[in-house]
Amino acid sequence: MQYVSTRGLAPSLNFEEAMLSGLARDGGLYVPEHIPKFDKKLFRSLERKSYIEIAFLVMKPFIGGVIGDNELRDVIEKAYVNFGYGEKAPLIKLSDNHFLLELFHGPTLAFKDFAMQLIGQLFQISLSKNKKKVTIIGATSGDTGSAAIEAFRGISQVDVFILFPEGGISEVQRRQMTTPSEANVHAISIDGSFDTCQAIVKDLFNDLSFRDEVNLAGVNSINWARIMAQVVYYFSSVSRLGILNSNQKVNFTVPTGNFGDIFAGYISKQMGLPISKLIIATNQNDMLHRTLQTAEYEKGEVFSSISPSMDIQVSSNFERALYYAYDQNSAEVDRLFSELKAEGKFRIGQNAYRNLQKHYHSGTANETETYQVMKKVGAQYDILVCPHTAVGLHVAEDYLGDLPMISLATAHPAKFPVAVEKATDIKPELPERVSNLFLKSERVTKLPNRLEVIKETIKERIAT
Ligand SMILES: *Cc1c(COP(=O)(O)O)cnc(C)c1O
Repeated sequence: MQYVSTRGLAPSLNFEEAMLSGLARDGGLYVPEHIPKFDKKLFRSLERKSYIEIAFLVMKPFIGGVIGDNELRDVIEKAYVNFGYGEKAPLIKLSDNHFLLELFHGPTLAFKDFAMQLIGQLFQISLSKNKKKVTIIGATSGDTGSAAIEAFRGISQVDVFILFPEGGISEVQRRQMTTPSEANVHAISIDGSFDTCQAIVKDLFNDLSFRDEVNLAGVNSINWARIMAQVVYYFSSVSRLGILNSNQKVNFTVPTGNFGDIFAGYISKQMGLPISKLIIATNQNDMLHRTLQTAEYEKGEVFSSISPSMDIQVSSNFERALYYAYDQNSAEVDRLFSELKAEGKFRIGQNAYRNLQKHYHSGTANETETYQVMKKVGAQYDILVCPHTAVGLHVAEDYLGDLPMISLATAHPAKFPVAVEKATDIKPELPERVSNLFLKSERVTKLPNRLEVIKETIKERIAT
């Protein structure tokens, strides 16, 4: 299996190379040259399999033989051993046709752990094999950074730098990044928004001499390996509904920011999983919702919300969705993104727009609605949900009907205690295994939004 860039101007790579490089050298994102299909028999067999076994079957075709079967099994076992729940991604029934997929039982309490724990293991294997050292740089709206630091802390072949928006994340998120004491962990707070941090990371990757000098690797959701890991829980959750024997389909609602999670749903659908609608749920930063309504893609200002992991207006992975909407025409994708750079916007062509509408639907929740949903599900089902999950549940309401709906619960409510308590009057408790977070001391470097300063800091840190 080879991977090609959405912009068509970078060399094609195997799985391992695509994983280690992150962003393609032409500014595009790597996608598999073809999407593997599952046959019916294999589908049916999933109903009796564990999460770990499903993960092996789903990911194997994407790895394309660069990692042996036994090694892959081993990696998967290790990646998910620290999840505080046997089922890894339990499916909870809310009402007759509505299910909540809990993705927050990993070490940092958000769905990002599913991908990050896996690529932590995969990086380790590849780097020791190649005797290489890399510098990982990522931007975070809170959860990616904590998951990355947790996955890479103490791994000697890796230095991990995480840029987060100063004041733009919850205290639990910040502490998860600033309390690890390992010397290879560098939490950097940036004077700006998440989009600022993400733009810095893109600029660092596009500076090819810097990129080569420090051996840059990316673990943001642009990294294909993360998408691949997230495909697994679409399969596991549908298999738990017991419908893979029938012709029934399922809808998914996904709280969306950078479009990685929902794009994994699209890949699952292309692999043959019986998904009807993929519903994008956005908070007040509703650029994707507007794009789906109007075919106009235009950068907007970012507003802070109580669901900070979705405070994003430029969704990197949407480029992958466009690539498929344009029938894999990379020249068109390249043209659109040049236009975005020059004019701050582009218009999606008619055919491509129709293709997007075939798979994706969307809705949005403002702050008041998000609080209301947290309160309502608290009363109705006796569960606490985080604000991101609440945005999804609000949007899902409009699509409940004949087909089963699976709503993704993307973070643990205790990761966002202030908003949850304000909505419900109940303070969500951190699970025991992470409850010492507030006792540890913090370590963080504050930097301005200036590329040269950031580059110098990185070079100094990795030299010591
Ligand atoms: C990252 C994140 C999201 C958004 O996921 P994307 O893959 O970026 O669309 C939603 N909710 C939570 C809690 C997150 O951490």
